[in-house]
Amino acid sequence: MNRQQKRKRVKEWELSVIVAFMVTVILFLPTNLPLGQTAGKIEAPTINKDIPPSLKHVGKKAELHHITLSGSTIKKELEIATPKEELQSDEKLIFLTFDDGPNNATEALLDVLSKYDATATFFMLEPLIKKNDELVTKMMEEGHSLALHGVTHDLNLFYASKQTVLDEMNRAQKAIRDITGKDSNLIRTPYGSMPHMTPEYIMAIEKEGYLMWDWNVDSMDWYYRGEDYVDETLQQIRQLEESDITPIVLLHDLVTTVEYLPQLLDTLIDKGYTFKGLTEEMQPVQFH
Ligand SMILES: [Zn+2]
Repeated sequence: MNRQQKRKRVKEWELSVIVAFMVTVILFLPTNLPLGQTAGKIEAPTINKDIPPSLKHVGKKAELHHITLSGSTIKKELEIATPKEELQSDEKLIFLTFDDGPNNATEALLDVLSKYDATATFFMLEPLIKKNDELVTKMMEEGHSLALHGVTHDLNLFYASKQTVLDEMNRAQKAIRDITGKDSNLIRTPYGSMPHMTPEYIMAIEKEGYLMWDWNVDSMDWYYRGEDYVDETLQQIRQLEESDITPIVLLHDLVTTVEYLPQLLDTLIDKGYTFKGLTEEMQPVQFH
């Protein structure tokens, strides 16, 4: 065998090894997935099982990453799912939110909340934040969530463009930062996001890092201006309970709201509710 024949033999052998390898890979491909994981291992965590229906897309994402990426990625995806699970926990949480302050009703409102060991969320307007900085400081010290409601509360001015929406929220954010040293990214747009917050507007505020919250219980306290808002609120909460949905209650810094707030809180405490402030880790409730 000369050198040329030898080289040919070697090449033929190499080729057969490659072909054999490829055949093996093709034969075993359906049962042997990449990264040495077996099909059994992938099915084991059943990530989708414990995730609420609204988060099914997150679950799917996690499953996909489980197949293609490392375990740390799965953990990250599941952490995103946690706050929503918190919303549906057995603890019976309720999130009271107060809009349009701080004003002459807020001090008494804070006193009631403190007496009931309840924390809440305040969606505040920039001019009132500046005017009532001591109340803002008190809110922070007492563990409430500080949040933004813009500047003008004027339908035409606020929603004039995506830039006016951003400008108003940025100004409210700065006012809180100047007092507390902390940035808040929780926002509620005046009169709620429907129908004024177009997909383009929403994209703009999300890009800026803002988390937009609407509500699923409207106390109508601004309409009743008296005791009747308590029954209205309790009735809406009862309806949500049937679907196991955590109530996010819209209220306002109004003297009449504060006056009957103990009545509302007493009833909710009897029903086993705990009052918490919204956090930036939670999945916002939105009308869209
Ligand atoms: Zn408002």
